[in-house]
Amino acid sequence: MKGLAKDLKRLVASERVRTDPEDLFAYSADATYYIKRGRPDAVVLPENTKEVSALLKYAFHHAVPVTPRGAGTGLSGGCTPLRGGIVLDMKRMGRILDINRRNMSAGVEAGVVLADFHKAVKKQGLFYPPNPQSMNVCTLGGNVATRACGPHGVKYGATGDYVMGLEVVLPDGSVIAPGGLVSRSSAGYDLTHLFTGSEGTLGVITKANLRLLALPPAHRTAMVTCETIEQAGEAVSEILAGGTLPAMIEFLPRMAIAAMNRYITPPLVTEGKAYLLIDLDGTRDEIQAQADQILGICRRMGVLDIRVIEDEQEAATYWTARSNIGGMLLAMMKKAINEDVAVPRDRIPEFVREIQAMASTLSRVVLGIAGHAGDGNMHPSIFFPEVNSDAENEAEAVIRKVVRLGLSLGGTVSGEHGIGFHKAEFLHWELGEVQIRLLKRIKKAFDPKGIMNPGKLWKEGR
Ligand SMILES: Cc1cc2nc3c(=O)[nH]c(=O)nc-3n(C[C@H](O)[C@H](O)[C@H](O)COP(=O)(O)OP(=O)(O)OC[C@H]3O[C@@H](n4cnc5c(N)ncnc54)[C@H](O)[C@@H]3O)c2cc1C
Repeated sequence: MKGLAKDLKRLVASERVRTDPEDLFAYSADATYYIKRGRPDAVVLPENTKEVSALLKYAFHHAVPVTPRGAGTGLSGGCTPLRGGIVLDMKRMGRILDINRRNMSAGVEAGVVLADFHKAVKKQGLFYPPNPQSMNVCTLGGNVATRACGPHGVKYGATGDYVMGLEVVLPDGSVIAPGGLVSRSSAGYDLTHLFTGSEGTLGVITKANLRLLALPPAHRTAMVTCETIEQAGEAVSEILAGGTLPAMIEFLPRMAIAAMNRYITPPLVTEGKAYLLIDLDGTRDEIQAQADQILGICRRMGVLDIRVIEDEQEAATYWTARSNIGGMLLAMMKKAINEDVAVPRDRIPEFVREIQAMASTLSRVVLGIAGHAGDGNMHPSIFFPEVNSDAENEAEAVIRKVVRLGLSLGGTVSGEHGIGFHKAEFLHWELGEVQIRLLKRIKKAFDPKGIMNPGKLWKEGR
C-alpha cells in the first residue's frame, strides 16, 4: 500500500512501524503458519490506547485492514493477516495496572503475558484460574479475544468468566469501556462479553478488568492408568458425576505419555492405553476427601493403577511435561493439526470410542486424542509421519468426520481455540444460516467498512 508506512510513522514513533520483509514474514501467521500465511503491509507496535485509536481512525478513513495480534500462539489462524494491511502487535501494552485485593480484581493492558499475570496475583495470595498451555507466551488480550481456557476449565471456567470490563477501540477510532469493576451487571446488552471471543473482528481490546479468586491453600496430583481409552473416558464421567470436582483432569493417551517421557525421569510406565493426570486443590482435608473418592471410583472400575503423588517436585514435572506436549509430539512427527472439538461430558466415552474406530482406518496420518477431558474439551489431533498430498487428503477427510461426530453428539467445533479462518466452514455447520446472518449483522454494526480482521469466522461470499 503506497505511502502507508510514511503515514503510520506520523501516528507512532517510526521505530515502532515495521516494514522489513523479515518482520512482515514473522507476522504473517500464528502457530498454524504451516497451513497458511498472509502478508501484512506494515506491523505497528502501539504503546497506549491513544495510539491505537489514532491508528484505527486512519485505517477506517483509508479502508485499510487491521489484524490485532497478541503473541501469535493462536491455533486457528486468528491473527493471520489474510487481506494484508496493518498487524497491530499489542505486546508493548504490557502493564499490569493494578491488583485490587479487596475487590478481588485486576486491571491490565492487553499485552500482558498470562504467566507474568499469574505470578503477580499469586504474590498477593490471589488466583487467576485460566491456564491455556501457551501461558508463558500468550497475552491476556489474546485470551479474552479467543475466550481461552485450559485445564482449569473443568472447575473454574474459561477466560470469559473472569472478564468484568474492557476498554475497546472501535474500528472508527472511538474508545468505549463496557462493563466495569463489578462482578455482575444487568445494564442492557452485554457488550463486554460480545468482545470476549470476538477474535479481533469487532475492535481492539486495549485493557481488561479481570476477576480474581483466593489462592487455594494446597494441591495434590494423582495419576490414573487406564487399561483402555474408553475406560479413561468413563472414569472422567464417573468422577464428576460422583461429586468430585478436580481443579484439572487431563486425558492423555499412551502416545502422549511416550512423548512426555522424553522429559520425565524416571519415565512413566506406559502399560496403560490412556492416563488421567488430575490436580486436586483446596484445604488438606478437602483434598484428602476428593482423593479418597477418586481412589474408590477408580478401584471399582478396575483401572490398572492409581497413584497419588506426594512429592511436589515430581508432580510439577508431570504438569510441565503436559504443558509442553504439543512441541514434544511435534518433535516425533513432521506436522500436526490440532482440533478442539468439545462434547458434553457424558458423551466423552462415545466420542473417544468413535475416534478410536476412525483412527484404526487411517494409513497416512495418525489420529490421536488428548485434552481437558473434565469439561469435555477434547483435542483430537492429526499427526503426519510424512507430509505429502495423500497424507493431507486423508487428514482433511478425517478432520471433517471428527467435527461432524462432535456436532452429532451435541458438541461444539471449538471449545477454546476460536474459529479464525480454519474453522470458518465448521462454524457454519454448527450455527446454520440464520445465526451466521445474525453474526454478520452484528459485525456490520461495529465495523461497517469491514476493516477488522477480515476473512475470519465465516467464509467470505457465503
Ligand atoms: C503450545 C500451545 C498450547 C496451547 N494451549 C491452549 C490451551 O490449553 N487452551 C486454549 O484455550 N488455547 C491454547 N492455545 C491457543 C492459544 O494460545 C490461545 O488461543 C491464546 O488465547 C492466544 O493468545 P495470543 O496472545 O497468542 O493471541 P493471538 O494468537 O495473537 O491472537 C488470537 C486471536 O485474538 C485476536 N487478538 C489478540 N489480541 C487482541 C486484542 N488486544 N484485541 C482484539 N483482538 C485480539 C487476534 O486477532 C486473533 O484473532 C495453545 C497454543 C499453543 C501454541
